[in-house]
Amino acid sequence: MSEHPAVRALQDLVRQPTVAERDPARTDPAPFVALRAALAEHFPRLHELERIEIEPHAVLVRWPGRTDAGPVVLMAHLDVVPVEGAWTHPAFGAEIHDGMVWGRGTLDDKGAVVGICAAVEQLLERGFVPARDVWLSFGSTEEVSGTTATDAVDELRRRGVAPWFVLDEGGAVAADAFPLVRAPLAVVGVTEKGVTSVELVAEGAGGHASTPARGGPTARLAAAITALEKAPLPLRAPAPTLELLRRLAPHLPAPLRPVLGRADRLAPVLTRVLRAAGAEAAAMVRTTVAVTTLSGSPALNVIASTARAGVNMRVMVGDTVDGVLDHVRRTVGPGIRVEVVERNEPSPVSPWDDGAFALLERITGELFPDAVPTPYVMMAATDARFFTGLCDRVYRFTPFRMTKDQRATIHAADERIGVADLLAGVDWYRRLVEELPA
Ligand SMILES: [Zn+2]
Repeated sequence: MSEHPAVRALQDLVRQPTVAERDPARTDPAPFVALRAALAEHFPRLHELERIEIEPHAVLVRWPGRTDAGPVVLMAHLDVVPVEGAWTHPAFGAEIHDGMVWGRGTLDDKGAVVGICAAVEQLLERGFVPARDVWLSFGSTEEVSGTTATDAVDELRRRGVAPWFVLDEGGAVAADAFPLVRAPLAVVGVTEKGVTSVELVAEGAGGHASTPARGGPTARLAAAITALEKAPLPLRAPAPTLELLRRLAPHLPAPLRPVLGRADRLAPVLTRVLRAAGAEAAAMVRTTVAVTTLSGSPALNVIASTARAGVNMRVMVGDTVDGVLDHVRRTVGPGIRVEVVERNEPSPVSPWDDGAFALLERITGELFPDAVPTPYVMMAATDARFFTGLCDRVYRFTPFRMTKDQRATIHAADERIGVADLLAGVDWYRRLVEELPA
């Protein structure tokens, strides 16, 4: 079988189970070393470019351009999340079935690694020189919020690199992304929600389960959780969401078009519609609060002296971490201690009205003429957020078509990418680099 070189490269990368651990000492280095070797083998010309190693397994690559105009940074990550669930085909097998490569990391994010590398390799083969420097930044700890992205940012800052724009994973060419809209949406994240976590802690005397007192730690914790569920944060319609609605308007059934066309004025109505349109849409219009971990007594016949609930919040653009924490404290009341575990503000909003975004839009229009390009607020966290301190234009977009089913396989079972979609992604990255202005 003679598959395209980019497909063979993706297969070799997926076969390395590069699962990073939160404690770096526990990460098995062997798959990362093998993956880096596979990259060198599949992309020999790229491998000859200037390379800066970022511990443990990440790398920055500099491809010098013709001018000293602000460089662009193309990002992706080499690590993957662990395998869970029942897979139709082996998660690290990279088998091809029904025109798709199956395996962990095909979409998140080894497909992008290959897309970028194959595009650069093709251009190097042709002797192409980009109009400005192109940096590649491949992290190895994205899925565990590790240090490689911040270290890469520090390194770029030390070298005085001031990028024109930074492009990381994020939105995709998403089919069935919005009710009643047939066209796929090419959603480019221009900001992302901030991840903030707290633990709610209730304490009491504990004791023997045969003589319970009213209002013990578990009961108070349960009441606090219920109160949080009943007191959602206020609805927000940040500018990128309104822009998305405005761009969608022409693609809606005729009677609805004027409504979205006036999205700015109708923001209150639209946000309520989105809230009602399911969990995915609801997350677009407010800070979300999810109770995740729970713990109490370790034994059935022992009353907990401490009960804890972990709460993971995604802070919407327009809200602040302090404001959200105030809301949580007020809602759970004085009997519960709120311990902050991590706090991250929403990222600054990158512009969509200047040349950088216009370039992304133009290349997307070329490769995916049926898609509607639009900015949006990304729900998940990416390494891109660390680059917002270095650059005002940070975009989150992976140029692959993804069905709704495929999007649901990210971090789940049966992750897979269409072979044709991978190759279109290679073309997208190649055209982007070819079209960089001086
Ligand atoms: Zn990812």
